[in-house]
Amino acid sequence: MTRAFEIAEVALLEERRPLTREEALAVAAVPLDALPDLIAIAHRVRLAWCGSEVQLESLVNAKSGGCPEDCAFCSQSARFATDADVYPLVSADEILAAAHATREAGASQFCIVVAVRGPSESLLKRVIEVTRRVIDETGLEVATSLGLLTKEQALRLAEAGVRRYNHNLETCSELFPRICTTHTYEDRIETARLAKDAGMELCCGGILGLGETVEQRVDFAFELAELEPCEAPINFLNPRPGTPLAATPPLSGREALQAVALMRLVLPGAWLRLAGGRELVLGELQSMGMYAGANALIVGNYLTTTGRDPADDLAMLESLGMPVAGGPGEGRYVLDRAGTHILPPLRDGERAPVDIRSPRSRPAS
Ligand code: SF4
Repeated sequence: MTRAFEIAEVALLEERRPLTREEALAVAAVPLDALPDLIAIAHRVRLAWCGSEVQLESLVNAKSGGCPEDCAFCSQSARFATDADVYPLVSADEILAAAHATREAGASQFCIVVAVRGPSESLLKRVIEVTRRVIDETGLEVATSLGLLTKEQALRLAEAGVRRYNHNLETCSELFPRICTTHTYEDRIETARLAKDAGMELCCGGILGLGETVEQRVDFAFELAELEPCEAPINFLNPRPGTPLAATPPLSGREALQAVALMRLVLPGAWLRLAGGRELVLGELQSMGMYAGANALIVGNYLTTTGRDPADDLAMLESLGMPVAGGPGEGRYVLDRAGTHILPPLRDGERAPVDIRSPRSRPAS
């Protein structure tokens, strides 16, 4: 096996620490011909740090289009002539119907997403009201994605029972100014921090295939890791007609799998969620994505594109032998001879009692 892979494996499975940037860059520099080895390591890391469960989440695009921001990949920006739907915040009953459908599809998380720079007072109030109703009526964990927040707004959402706040960094800090000019990377980081400080779990990921290099993908993973998100959604660019990135070629399936595996090695304990664009980019390789380190999925439709039938995802997970997470979870599980249990906190220099190393590094019996 490649030396960079061996170092990664020892770091993550024996020393039980995330990779350094240099180690991750060395892994990323290994040619794609060695992808099966990288996927095997990422899968072992996922099992050792998170267990075999897969968390399912469904979205409702509760307010579509007309966004004043200029994110170059997004068909909901009012600045681009696209065919995305444009509508104001839908009624509470429509959001509740989507929540019930989410429950029926087997998901445990439901995310209310609106296309805005940040929530107005009236929008925030309505989202808070409907969040309480969704929790009461369905028992689902509610996440929201409402753009940039103030401290007070974050506290009100947390108090209303919003469990997880989604605010993606989208891409690495170096590339971000070419993707968006109407707000800054620092604005996004500030909202991510405010959400966590308010007591919500942080869901923070982005979109791959915006023209970033493999090295920039590694940088992006480390910038996410600094925020210690509970979850990192991974979207793949599905070029939307009318947007500035309409002619950008999508990632190949192999590039996407390598990126997922790299994310797992840098964010070993996070829910890594395959999201928009997975059908286009991974196609027949979607189950391979679950072996490459992903342990969560968006099921059903995305914000502006159509996903596949949730039943297909459930069938895929069943065939992979990956159970669907049925309830609250932090992605902090470990699998050992005693089964799956919550990862114990480690003291400095301590190694976790996990024996899920590759045959290469196991002591001879
Ligand atoms: S990604 Fe979000 S903030 Fe950016 S244009 Fe789209 S809806 Fe607006």
